[in-house]
Amino acid sequence: MQLKNPDADVYVPDGSTVAEALTKTTHVAVGAHQDDIEFMALHGILECFDDPDRWFSGITVGDGAGSPRSGPYGEYSDEEMRKVRVIEQRKAALVGGYACQIQLGFPSAAIKDASIEEVVVYLKAIFEGAAPEVVYLHNPADKHDTHVACCLRSIDALRMLPEDRRPQKVYGCEVWRGLDWMVDDDKEALHLDDRANIAGALCGVFDSQIAGGKRYDLAVQGRHLANATFFESHEVDAHDRLAFAMDLTPLIDDPSIRVADFTLGLLRNMKDDVTDRIVRMNRKV
Ligand SMILES: [Zn+2]
Repeated sequence: MQLKNPDADVYVPDGSTVAEALTKTTHVAVGAHQDDIEFMALHGILECFDDPDRWFSGITVGDGAGSPRSGPYGEYSDEEMRKVRVIEQRKAALVGGYACQIQLGFPSAAIKDASIEEVVVYLKAIFEGAAPEVVYLHNPADKHDTHVACCLRSIDALRMLPEDRRPQKVYGCEVWRGLDWMVDDDKEALHLDDRANIAGALCGVFDSQIAGGKRYDLAVQGRHLANATFFESHEVDAHDRLAFAMDLTPLIDDPSIRVADFTLGLLRNMKDDVTDRIVRMNRKV
């Protein structure tokens, strides 16, 4: 694959060609920033880990230049920061045994501008080459603008695929905002019981962000532990760790559904659930 953007980076840990890596890919995650994939799509990474029939590929759309920095990285320029973040993402791909890791290197402003078609064009080309069975995206109710823009560009790209190249399942995942608010019937509970060691190592390689002042490694682990314990109020824990996700597959299967309407439908289900419970508990029986 030829990427016009000079800041783009393609890494295939086992040294095969990108085409070979994409052909064997079964699971793809698209994240806005370096580290988003590992924080939100551990389910896909761990499902594929050390499995000869399943391969995970990561796509990072942003260039990481605008990342916050402090501590040992406090004096880094945007350019130095960009380079550090690209290397950290490569480290995660090696630890996670990815088929490939593609970093498209777009500035945040370009991802957030819907008139820049290049982002969708690249994403479509990658999806077309991989034809993954499962795709992990940011979710449209995330509170980070670049995450939501990245999700929308990915949905546009997936909708352009011929039907036989479309994934069977598309998840919208948790980063900046958990998905505990969704009613259980709407929630996809992704099990993360195995290989907590690999999950910990994957989240820990992003030193520029963690040593730079945010304990994302602990926060991600804490969210997954809390999701598992608070999922069932009347039963013992069935799983050690859970990630929650929205099922975005209907948006790909039916491109006429507006992303905003779809997301507000989930919010409406939550509103009805809260309202119904209060009404029921005020009833004199
Ligand atoms: Zn991010």
